[in-house]
Amino acid sequence: MASSVPVSRRRILTVAAAGGLVAATGSWRAVAARAATVAGSAPRLAVDPFALGVASGDPGADGVVLWTRLTQDPAAVAGGMPPVDVPVRWMVARDEGMRRIVAGGRVAATPEAAHSVRVVVEGLEPDRPYWYRFVVGDHETPVARTRTFPAANRRADRLDFAVTSCQNYRDGYYNAWADVAADEDLDAVLFLGDYIYESGEGMGAVRAHPIAEVVTLDEYRARYALYRGDANLQAAHAVAPWLVVWDDHEVDNNYQGTSPEVGSPTSDPAAFLARRAAAYRAWWEHMPTRLAPPTGPDLPIHRRADFGRLARFHLLDTRQYRSNQPCAPANDVGPVCAEARGPDLTVLGDAQERWLDAGLRSSGASWDLLGQQVTFSQLAFSPGPDGVRNLDQWDGYPDARRRMIDAWRRAGIKNPVVLTGDIHANIVGDVTADFDDPQAPHVGTELVGTSISSSAPAVLQQVLTDVVGRSPHLRWADATARGWLRATVTPEVLQADYRTVDDNRVEGSPLRTARSFVVESGGSVTEA
Ligand code: FE
Ligand code: CA
Repeated sequence: MASSVPVSRRRILTVAAAGGLVAATGSWRAVAARAATVAGSAPRLAVDPFALGVASGDPGADGVVLWTRLTQDPAAVAGGMPPVDVPVRWMVARDEGMRRIVAGGRVAATPEAAHSVRVVVEGLEPDRPYWYRFVVGDHETPVARTRTFPAANRRADRLDFAVTSCQNYRDGYYNAWADVAADEDLDAVLFLGDYIYESGEGMGAVRAHPIAEVVTLDEYRARYALYRGDANLQAAHAVAPWLVVWDDHEVDNNYQGTSPEVGSPTSDPAAFLARRAAAYRAWWEHMPTRLAPPTGPDLPIHRRADFGRLARFHLLDTRQYRSNQPCAPANDVGPVCAEARGPDLTVLGDAQERWLDAGLRSSGASWDLLGQQVTFSQLAFSPGPDGVRNLDQWDGYPDARRRMIDAWRRAGIKNPVVLTGDIHANIVGDVTADFDDPQAPHVGTELVGTSISSSAPAVLQQVLTDVVGRSPHLRWADATARGWLRATVTPEVLQADYRTVDDNRVEGSPLRTARSFVVESGGSVTEA
């Protein structure tokens, strides 16, 4: 019923005789060797090993991925765990009381994966909720909710999902996650990147990063453990399956392909690739995906998920394969120069472009939802085709953007909707065939969702207000509030409700729906 990593009995060592793992002195290896007599049972873990919560993700019609990671001291190297495999039991039920178990098994949490586990559960029924938990010894997780999606060829009447991104721990409390977690009608949570921030120690507006800028695998793991320790984030993972992609801060601010941020502590190319390998590895260890583990500095993460015939999610990666930023690599913002034009510049890379093309052509969905990172539509900081733009966004790669729009039109998809994170602002607009021509036909929609907690510079609001004023394709832009975007999709209409936090520096601050927009199938986006 489920494929899971078999637990190697030979490698399971019982260390309970040492008198509790946390109190043990000396190396774990010595402790384990002393007690290596009983195979097949878990070491006795003195501390609840589930401090990082659970998660589910990459839902399909017949299954879903379950995730957890064991720790004894989340901030410590290796999460304070002994360097031995630990058997973890998992179970899936049709009911929240966990009485009607339909799948279960045992999986090894290994030191190589920082004692994270991923279980690909198969053989479930399509389009229904399930509940799950993990157990190690006397410790068990709370029961969490997930669901399967309707089969790709089946009718589906309604999809409710969250669009989320950018959860800088230093900048604010995760009130937005508490709001997501309270929404039991969500079928999925789309997370568009900046799950962690790599930046160094010190206080932000609210909370602290305890260690310097993270570079090594152990440091990235500790940063994920810090973030995953938050109860509101854990609650949001426990309410619905997630569809997760990364952005830049999972590695290094504004990196592109193999090029680090200017001024990065890993500016040497080999050092940056080693860092990217560590960062991708730690991301893989902490996300509930079906992806195979990375090999070195590479990890293809683009993938699809179908919600019946109603919606197809195309999850894109605009960081790993893109050409280095043209025109002004030391600065995001500058005028579009000749270097930005030309067929060689890419955002997705050739292979991902071809894969997306195929996925659009084979799509029979009412809505094609393109989950990706950087703003797709033109944001003209000054007027004219060569005006000032944020060159880290698609504005720095206008011919690559043109190829994407051409692909939509060639594929004849009904409703392309670009869903975007990264910029810590809410932005709503039409995608048009030519952003510099007010008469150009509408070809799609872009909905940019603000950050969960990451702050935006105060100047950004005035900049965006000016941009909207000179851009007929844009309806609204707001950089002043944190929150998330709640989307509801039916065959006829997409509705976007922008949920915003009153004051993100206050724990428990409430959210409200700031603005709502609708897209009728084939039409422009309008305020509801
Ligand atoms: Fe961000
Ligand atoms: Ca970003």
